[in-house]
Amino acid sequence: METVTYFRLAAIILLGLCTGSFLNVVIYRLPRGESIAMDRSRCPSCGKQLSWFELIPVISYLLQFGKCRTCHSRISLQYPVVELLTGAVFAVLFLHFGATLTLVKYLFLSSLLIAISLIDLRHYIIPNSLVITGLAGGVLLNIAARDVGALSALIGILATSGFLLLVALLSKGGMGGGDIKLAAVTGLFLGWPLAPFGLFLGAGAGGLLAIFLLLFKLRGSKDPLPFGPFISLGSFFAILYGFSIISWYLNYL
Ligand SMILES: [Zn+2]
Repeated sequence: METVTYFRLAAIILLGLCTGSFLNVVIYRLPRGESIAMDRSRCPSCGKQLSWFELIPVISYLLQFGKCRTCHSRISLQYPVVELLTGAVFAVLFLHFGATLTLVKYLFLSSLLIAISLIDLRHYIIPNSLVITGLAGGVLLNIAARDVGALSALIGILATSGFLLLVALLSKGGMGGGDIKLAAVTGLFLGWPLAPFGLFLGAGAGGLLAIFLLLFKLRGSKDPLPFGPFISLGSFFAILYGFSIISWYLNYL
């Protein structure tokens, strides 16, 4: 890689770390009904407002040994993990798509999916505000990036969201409404055929994990397993490798 590319990669990773820091705020505040635009972050334990040097992604956590400077209570490992994850995802997308509008589109989507997955994991809900943000952003970014046309997006939504709706109706509540809405977002962004392929991958991974957890009695059959993270993971994989895998499979046939 050229020096310029290294410089751009470093900038993208930095952007990812800062975006991850913002996502942590979204993940904490949205399920509690607090405003995202509210004042600066506070320690969840003692309520002390954090200063700028306590808000540097990853670095602050390391310098403070994972503890609040005021009350010394543990800071959740979720904070640096989400920051590092977002930085890594941004780097992978940049190396895959280069400096394009498609990159911008998928940086937006993956940030949204990280926030949705974490909220779903912790609270078993997918906030409508994030779904609406996704649908609005998806329409604009599809037009800007010109990689997924209106028809492709429409078929993508029907093949993911419509399919899950059908599953929900047939299983009488076996599929959450949040998952159906999230699938509409990935359907819009990825279009046909990537969106249903991503859902297929996610459902496969989720199903395997569910069987594994049941076999080893780590979870009962009645315990909910949030599906949002799997839809997200499958879609991310489809964005990167979907077309290669599908064309390889068609050639194989
Ligand atoms: Zn504190």
